[in-house]
Amino acid sequence: MNDDKKLEKLAKQIKVCTRCELHRSRTEAVPGEGPTHAEIMLIGEGPGANEDKQGRPFVGASGKFLDQLLEQAGVTRSDVWITNVVKCRPPGNRDPLPDEVEICTGNYLKHQIEIVNPRIIVTLGRHSMGLFFKGAKITQIHGQMRKVDDRFVIAMFHPAAALHQQSLKSTILADFARLPDLLKEARAELGKSPPKAKKTTRSK
Ligand code: URA
Repeated sequence: MNDDKKLEKLAKQIKVCTRCELHRSRTEAVPGEGPTHAEIMLIGEGPGANEDKQGRPFVGASGKFLDQLLEQAGVTRSDVWITNVVKCRPPGNRDPLPDEVEICTGNYLKHQIEIVNPRIIVTLGRHSMGLFFKGAKITQIHGQMRKVDDRFVIAMFHPAAALHQQSLKSTILADFARLPDLLKEARAELGKSPPKAKKTTRSK
């Protein structure tokens, strides 16, 4: 099976998943979307109300802000793979529980990362950061890039945090303003220029 098909198969499984309690309150699961072999993968926390309605990641207010942050960094949204730690909306936007994170990442995100095989992962918020930097604090490592196995991971604040806390807005803007330099550094280290994004996998 080719990688497009593997991602489509995972998306189909996610859409009907009942492995954790989050499926009970969801409208639509949100598998994620982007070019099959995107150079960059963004990982948020979990769908919010708009994403739950539309079945697509980052389409609400924090998505609009994310688009602005990416544009500022010269990154085209359609060139990156965007997904979340958990694929179903936690009720009332509560934090995902540890078992929900474990089940969802073990069955889905882990495989999505293996298939897309991004050279650079940008984590958005502490939940996705925690998957790569165990025990780290987002307030201490935001804006930093580290090599994890054979890829680079950059920890960013979640765009929604900046929308809720005005004081974080200038911080996240500054962190994303450094993204072009971080990408350049990662590419130089990995020894290649950015690959041309090809086919897009839409979740709906
Ligand atoms: N917040 C997230 O973490 N993910 C989304 O898809 C939307 C909002």
